[in-house]
Amino acid sequence: MLRRLDRVKGYDAIVVGSGVIGLSCAWRLSELGRRVAVFDPSPGQGASAVGAGMLAPVTEASWHDRTLVDLNIRAAREWPAFARELEEKSSRPTGFRACGTIYAAFDSSDKTALEEMCEFQNSLGLDASWCSPTRLRALEPLLTPGVRGGIWAAGEHQIDNRLFVSALEQAAIAAGVRRVEKSVTAVEIGAGVVRGVRTVHEVCSAPLVVLAAGHAVGRIDGLPKGLVPEIRPVKGQILRLANRKGVVFASPNIRALVNGSTVYVVSRDDGGVVVGATQEEKGEDLTVDAGALYRLLRDAQRVLPGIEELEVAEFTAGLRPATRDHLPVIGATAVGGLLLALGHFRNGILLAGVTGEAVAALAESGSLPPWCEPFAPERLAEKIAV
Ligand SMILES: Cc1cc2nc3c(=O)[nH]c(=O)nc-3n(C[C@H](O)[C@H](O)[C@H](O)COP(=O)(O)OP(=O)(O)OC[C@H]3O[C@@H](n4cnc5c(N)ncnc54)[C@H](O)[C@@H]3O)c2cc1C
Repeated sequence: MLRRLDRVKGYDAIVVGSGVIGLSCAWRLSELGRRVAVFDPSPGQGASAVGAGMLAPVTEASWHDRTLVDLNIRAAREWPAFARELEEKSSRPTGFRACGTIYAAFDSSDKTALEEMCEFQNSLGLDASWCSPTRLRALEPLLTPGVRGGIWAAGEHQIDNRLFVSALEQAAIAAGVRRVEKSVTAVEIGAGVVRGVRTVHEVCSAPLVVLAAGHAVGRIDGLPKGLVPEIRPVKGQILRLANRKGVVFASPNIRALVNGSTVYVVSRDDGGVVVGATQEEKGEDLTVDAGALYRLLRDAQRVLPGIEELEVAEFTAGLRPATRDHLPVIGATAVGGLLLALGHFRNGILLAGVTGEAVAALAESGSLPPWCEPFAPERLAEKIAV
C-alpha cells in the first residue's frame, strides 16, 4: 500500500548507482531510446572516484582467471575508440593516455617472481616483454639505477578516473538520462518481474532495473535471498601527489615489486601522481593509516627516488566491490527485468565501457553477448523462489 506522500513516476529503465558502471549502463540504455533514470545519493563518490585509472589487462593478469583476462583484453582494445566517442559526446576530456606500463623488480627475488609472471603473460599470448635495467631506464629515466629489470607492457593505458566519471555523467545527461540524487531503499518485485524501485519518499516504476550499487548493493531491501550474489568491500588506501611543475612526472605507468610488496605510480598529464594501493579485507572501513602511507611512499621512493620532490595532495581509501570468485557479475537474474552490473573489483574503470555495452545488448535482444556469458549471475546465485 502506498503512503499518501508517495509519487509514482515511470521510466523505461532505472539504474541504481552512478559510479562508472551504472553511468555507462545508463548512457548506453538511453542511447537505445529508453527513458532512463539513474539513482544515487552521492554520485561519483564511490570506488570510481578513488581508483588509479590504469587500463591494465596484462599486468593485472593473475594465475587463475583466464576468462577475466579475455574480458580485460577486449575492454582495453575498445578503450581508445570508447574514449574518443565519450569525449565527443560529452565535450569533456577523459585523460586517456596510451603510455604503456613498466613492472620493475627491486631485488633479486622480485626479479625471479616477475620473470615467472612475464612467462605466464607470454603463455597467454599477452604483449609483455622482459627488459634489462638499461632498457627499463631508457623507457623511464627516473627509475633508480639499482632496478633489476622488469616487464614492459606496451599496450597498457591510463585514464583519469575522475575526468572519466565527469565525462560519463555529461554524456548520460546529453543522451537524456535523468539523475535522481536519492538512495534506493528497496526494489519492487511482483509476480516474478521487477516493477520499479522505492526511495524513502516515493516509488518509481520501471520494467527494467539495473543494480550497479557497488559494494553497498546488499543494503537494498526487497530482493529475494540469494538472488544477488554477495558483494564485499575490499579496501584500498591510495595517495595523490602533485608535480609542482604541472608536467607529467613519469611517462609510463610504473608498477614495482619491492621486497615482495606491490606498488604503482600513475602520472597524469597535469602533473598529478597517484600512488597505490593497499588491498585489505576490513569491511566498510574508509579510515587511512600512517603505516599504509609510509609503506606506499617508501616502496614508491625505492624505485622512483624523485617522488620525494612531489607535493602531497590527498590520502584516501576506497572500497572495491568484489564477488567471491573475484569476477564481475553482469546479466539477468531470475526476476524478469532485474539486471546486475556488480563486482568489478580491481578492474571496474577498465571494464566500464564493455559492461555498458553488454547490459544494453541484453536489454535490447534478451541475451548477453557471447563474450560476456562467463560473467552471468547464475554461477553465483543460490536456489531461490521468486
Ligand atoms: C584504491 C583503488 C584503486 C583502483 N584502481 C583501479 C584501476 O587502476 N583500474 C581499474 O580499472 N579499476 C580500479 N579500481 C577499481 C574500480 O575503481 C572499481 O571496480 C569501480 O570503480 C567500481 O565501479 P562501480 O560503479 O561498480 O562502484 P562505485 O564507484 O562504488 O559506485 C557505486 C555507486 O552506487 C551508489 N549506491 C550505493 N548504494 C546505493 C543505493 N541504495 N541507491 C542508489 N545508489 C547507491 C554509491 O553512492 C556509488 O556512487 C580501483 C579501486 C580502488 C578502491
